[in-house]
Amino acid sequence: MLHLYDTQTMELRPVEAEDGRQLRFYCCGPTVYGPAHIGNFRTFVMQDVFRRVVELGGLRTKHVRNLTDVDDKTIRDSQKAGMPLAGFTKIWTDKFHADCQSLNCLPPHVEPSAVAHIPEQIAMVAELIAKGYAYASEDGSVYFRISSFPEYGRLSHLDRRELELGKTANARANTDEYEKDSVADFVLWKAHKPEDGENFWSSPWGDGRPGWHLECSAMTHKYLGETFDLHSGGIDLIFPHHENEIAQSLCACGGHFARQWFHIAHLLVNGGKMSKSLGNMFTLRDLESKGFSAAALRYTLVGGHYRRPLNFTLTSMADAAAALERLARAEKELRQAAGEREAPSYRHLVQTRPEPASFQKAWESLNDDLNTPEALGCVFSALKSFRLHPPAPEQAKAEWLGLHFILAALGLVLPDPDTVAEAPENIRRLAEERLAARKAKNWAASDALREKMALLGWLVKDGRDGYELYRQ
Ligand code: AMP
Ligand code: ZN
Repeated sequence: MLHLYDTQTMELRPVEAEDGRQLRFYCCGPTVYGPAHIGNFRTFVMQDVFRRVVELGGLRTKHVRNLTDVDDKTIRDSQKAGMPLAGFTKIWTDKFHADCQSLNCLPPHVEPSAVAHIPEQIAMVAELIAKGYAYASEDGSVYFRISSFPEYGRLSHLDRRELELGKTANARANTDEYEKDSVADFVLWKAHKPEDGENFWSSPWGDGRPGWHLECSAMTHKYLGETFDLHSGGIDLIFPHHENEIAQSLCACGGHFARQWFHIAHLLVNGGKMSKSLGNMFTLRDLESKGFSAAALRYTLVGGHYRRPLNFTLTSMADAAAALERLARAEKELRQAAGEREAPSYRHLVQTRPEPASFQKAWESLNDDLNTPEALGCVFSALKSFRLHPPAPEQAKAEWLGLHFILAALGLVLPDPDTVAEAPENIRRLAEERLAARKAKNWAASDALREKMALLGWLVKDGRDGYELYRQ
């Protein structure tokens, strides 16, 4: 059974469906104002691996993931683009869906959008006011009163002192802008401002729009009820977003809200934060234009443990492409030994749940806090042992199914081993020259040759016995 680290209790806990049959979980979705970057996809891909491990483990799931299609950023950028909000966010929603499909992420069962759930959000604000947890200010905005909810900060383990410090810091940053009776109070309903343009709805407190945290509380309540099994997002959402969701939901609806919390550490680029201003914010399209596949990106993203930051480099993409090609060749050998032609579908694997055979250790690693890098290591060890002791013919099919079971859990799609490119003559010559330069420890020449090959669309990866060549 899958055990996962729970942010709230800070311990490994079994992932169980409360009703014993269907695991009901919620993931905070994308803000659709531009292309999702590869950091966002680290989170979405790991949530997808989570779902696959649960389903291949024998539990059904209900996966809800929202679309944030109204907030400061969507409004700002739709105006810059001179487009109505709905048309603008649709473009980025479609792009997000296309990227998810390329990355082999299963679509959620329900994908509610904030704009499509304004009445539900207004109803929740009204409930919070009626119960004394929220108050309207003179400008028509509504705030959640933090002091009315003593459990605030439990998920992010903020002790009282930190909360007080937070309040002071917020006081300086926000008092000019907002009128609030407690400085850490957060906004539930934002009064209409001229810069919002036509993007407002009427409410009992005047025209405005929901605060960002509110949509997730409204969606979880509508689609999963007061208590559900698990909630997930990137670690940046722990505070304040998830803390605020808990406060809103527990106070408005009762119940327990999420029974377990799954947070994914950030993807870094070349050891640092990814940001637009640093020019290091890659999208899937950026990588594809450099000749890498979505499958290689997925491989890179599952190559790190979700609880540790993962450092992304273009070299890691080249390594991933090479690893996928090795896997594809090994799969082909097993397939031929098994006398099979077509790989089993994900659905078929979920329904039949074959034994992982020699890939049992990989399956155990996945079930031990989604240890994807260890699982990949186990897959390669098993394949290596087949080199020394090929499976007996009557075992080949079971091993082949076992391999597909793990590939399906990781969501890895293999390239066609028959179209894996042979390097042309001029590239092989450059590679030989480079090897000679390396042997002579002439690093400048070796680097220059690598660059030259890269410009011609080929990557060279050094190994113990020489090098391997990969098409970019
Ligand atoms: P957003 O579109 O900004 O609302 O973010 C969508 C998801 O991506 C959220 O779960 C974020 O926590 C997550 N996320 C944002 N940046 C990163 C990153 N660098 N690495 C991993 N996850 C991230
Ligand atoms: Zn959320």
